[in-house]
Amino acid sequence: MGAPEKLPLPMVEAVRAIAQGPLADQADAIDRGTYPRAVMQALGAAGAYSAHLGPGAAPGDFAQAIRASAAVSQVCGATGFMVWCQQVCGFYLQQSGSTALMDDLLPLHATGARLGGTGMSNPMKSYAGIETLLLKARRVAGGWCVNGALPWVSNLGPDHYAGVLAAVDNPEATAPVEVMFLLRCDAPGVELRNCPSFSAMEGTNTWALRCTDMFVPDADVIAHPAKPVIARIRAGFILLQCGFGLGVTQGAIDAMWRVEPALGHVNCYLEDRPDGLQAELDALWARVEALAATPFDASTAYFIYVLDTRAHASELALRAAQSSLLHAGARGYLLSSDVQRRVRESHFVAIVSPAIKHLRKEIARLSAMEMPA
Ligand SMILES: Cc1cc2nc3c(=O)[nH]c(=O)nc-3n(C[C@H](O)[C@H](O)[C@H](O)COP(=O)(O)OP(=O)(O)OC[C@H]3O[C@@H](n4cnc5c(N)ncnc54)[C@H](O)[C@@H]3O)c2cc1C
Repeated sequence: MGAPEKLPLPMVEAVRAIAQGPLADQADAIDRGTYPRAVMQALGAAGAYSAHLGPGAAPGDFAQAIRASAAVSQVCGATGFMVWCQQVCGFYLQQSGSTALMDDLLPLHATGARLGGTGMSNPMKSYAGIETLLLKARRVAGGWCVNGALPWVSNLGPDHYAGVLAAVDNPEATAPVEVMFLLRCDAPGVELRNCPSFSAMEGTNTWALRCTDMFVPDADVIAHPAKPVIARIRAGFILLQCGFGLGVTQGAIDAMWRVEPALGHVNCYLEDRPDGLQAELDALWARVEALAATPFDASTAYFIYVLDTRAHASELALRAAQSSLLHAGARGYLLSSDVQRRVRESHFVAIVSPAIKHLRKEIARLSAMEMPA
C-alpha cells in the first residue's frame, strides 16, 4: 500500500500555518515598511480571498473569510488589514456584473495572482455626511474621464488596482449620481504619491492616488449608478473588516497568557484580564458568525447590528491591546515587541473607515429612523 493521500488543509488552517510561519518571521519588518507580497500571494493560493465569493453574484462563506483575516491579523495587523482590502476588492469585482471584471480578473484576484485594494473610505464618509466626494467623473465615448485625488489607499503598487467611486459630473441630473469602477494603477493619468510616515501600517503599500484626466473604459465599471450596489455590499464590506479587529484582539490576549507564568502574581491586580477578554471575544465571534450568514440582508435593523458589531470589535481591540501592554510591562515597551506594535495596530482598527465616530454617527442616524413616530 502506498503512502496515504494528503488531504488539503481546511482553508483557515492553511492560512493560520502561513500566518504563524513565514508571516510571523516578517511581522517586524512589515511594521517597519516591507510589503509582504509573497505572503499575500500565498494567502490567496490558500483560499483566503475566495471563501466569501459564491457562484455568480451569490454570497459564499463570509464567516470563513473573516476567520482567515482574523488568523492573519492575530500575527500581523498590517497584513490582516491588506487581506481585508483584497477580500473586499474581490467582492466588488464579483458584484460588478462586468464580464471583463468577473470572468477575466476575478479568478486571478481570488487566488492572489493579482493584488488590489479599496479606496472607498471617502465615499463611505460622503454617504454618512462626513466629507464630500474627492473624485469626479465625466462621461466620454466608451467610458469615463476621472479627475481628483484620494489621500490614502492601501495594498497598491504599479501593477495593482483598487475599487473606487466618483461623483458623476452632469449638470442636467436632478439628484447626485456616482459611478464605481476599478482604478488600475498603471493607467495613463494615474499617479501614486508617497504618504507621510504612519505610526503603524507602514508595510501596507499605502499611497495617495492622483487622477488627471484618467480614462476608465466601460468594461472596468463596477456600478453605475453606484447606490444600489453600495446598498447591497455595505454590510458585507463592514463584516469582513471585523476579522481585522478580532484578530488583533486575539493576538493581544495570546501575549497576555505568554507573560502569565512570570507576572501573573502581580498582573492579577489589572482589569481586562485575558480570560475575561477571551469570553467577550468569543461572544463577539458568535455575533459576527450569525450576522455573516446573511450578508445581503437589506433591513435597517440588520445593518445597525453590523455597525454595532464592528464598533464593538474596535473597542475590544483597543482595550485588549492596551491591557496587553500593561500585562507585559517594559518587555512590551521595546520597539521590537509585538505587544507595542499591536497597540498601534489597534489604533488603526479604530480609526480606519468606518472609524468608531463614523459608526456611532450612522447608528444614531439609522436608529432615529427606526424609532416609531
Ligand atoms: C495607514 C492608512 C491606510 C489607509 N488605507 C485606506 C484604504 O486602503 N482605503 C481607503 O479608502 N482609505 C484608507 N485610509 C483612510 C482611512 O480609512 C480614513 O478615511 C482616514 O484615516 C480619514 O479618516 P478620519 O476619521 O481621520 O477623518 P476625519 O477625522 O473626518 O478627518 C477629515 C478629513 O481630513 C483629512 N485629513 C486629516 N489629516 C490629514 C492629513 N495629515 N493629510 C491629509 N488629509 C488629512 C482626512 O483624510 C479626512 O478626510 C487609510 C488611512 C491610513 C492612515
